[in-house]
Amino acid sequence: MTAPIDLRSDTVTRPTDAMRAVMAAAPVGDDQYGEDPSTNRLQARMAEMLGKEAALWLPTGTMANQVALRTLTRPGDEVVACRESHAAWHELGGAAANAGVQIHEIGQDGVFSADELRCATKPRNFAIFPTTTLVEIENTHNRAGGVVVPQDVVLSVCAVARELGLATFLDGARLWNASAASGIALDTLAAPFDLVAVAFSKGLGAPGGSLLAGSKALIAAADRHRRRMGGAMRQNGIFSAAALHAIDHHLERLPEDHANARAFAEQLLAGAPIQLDLSTVQTNIVVFHIPAALPLDAQNLSTLARERGVLVNAFGPRTVRAVTHLDVDRTQCLHAAGVLAALLTR
Ligand SMILES: *Cc1c(COP(=O)(O)O)cnc(C)c1O
Repeated sequence: MTAPIDLRSDTVTRPTDAMRAVMAAAPVGDDQYGEDPSTNRLQARMAEMLGKEAALWLPTGTMANQVALRTLTRPGDEVVACRESHAAWHELGGAAANAGVQIHEIGQDGVFSADELRCATKPRNFAIFPTTTLVEIENTHNRAGGVVVPQDVVLSVCAVARELGLATFLDGARLWNASAASGIALDTLAAPFDLVAVAFSKGLGAPGGSLLAGSKALIAAADRHRRRMGGAMRQNGIFSAAALHAIDHHLERLPEDHANARAFAEQLLAGAPIQLDLSTVQTNIVVFHIPAALPLDAQNLSTLARERGVLVNAFGPRTVRAVTHLDVDRTQCLHAAGVLAALLTR
């Protein structure tokens, strides 16, 4: 049997031969002593690309989010984030367990407005309210279908945050995709935020690694939290070399993933009576809903598709996610859409 067409996530990519070669040859040292040249190079390069003073390598995006929350809040605080944000849905309650904060989810479809932030921010020093200290934006927003948060909304939300004395955090695990889709440079997207997280293990195709960028003072504080959580590694130049290679060679091909996601979505929508708003297909993620009238639910569809060599994620009872990436080409995406459409219409 041929290898399945795996659209579960852009994390399923395997390092290319070229990436493995630079990993094998990477100069390394002990990063806990600040002596890993490849990690130092990556951190300096990313700080520059993101327009921040400093950057810090972390093993995962989940830890980057946990460390950011820990750095910018105190236990008992409240964090405002978009409905269905990764930090609220996909991190096992880590915001509560590790940072001791609760997340107040607002907005919809990946976006909330400055007015919604204003309404959600609790008045300070009121006897019974938690203190709202941080606002987080996820760009692109995963569960909303990889949508790009419009930059004018980002700017107005962050302006209100500053006015209200809130810190700002950008979960930019897929900020590369937001930049590729909007044509807005990474440093412009990152500029309004105190701390920014990016991931090398999603569309960029590296085997692991995320990074936080911000002021020297915030990154120094984040480093202490990273060490406390056990996230400081040793010769992780092997990972950093993969990330540098991905920046050099895979960043530029993201529009291909976006075009493949759109072709997949259009083909699927043409062939099956699903609910899918094509205007949400802005990057490499397609989230669609199976109407109640159809006999299949998301889990049935994903099980049957797997038997036919196509992997997708059941994201909710009738919600399915498919993600394009560098290990699937146009032909495979169109074939996968055909398989799903045939199952949905039989
Ligand atoms: C994947 C993801 C993360 C977490 O990254 P991991 O490396 O899988 O822990 C955080 N935020 C968003 C938006 C993501 O998509």
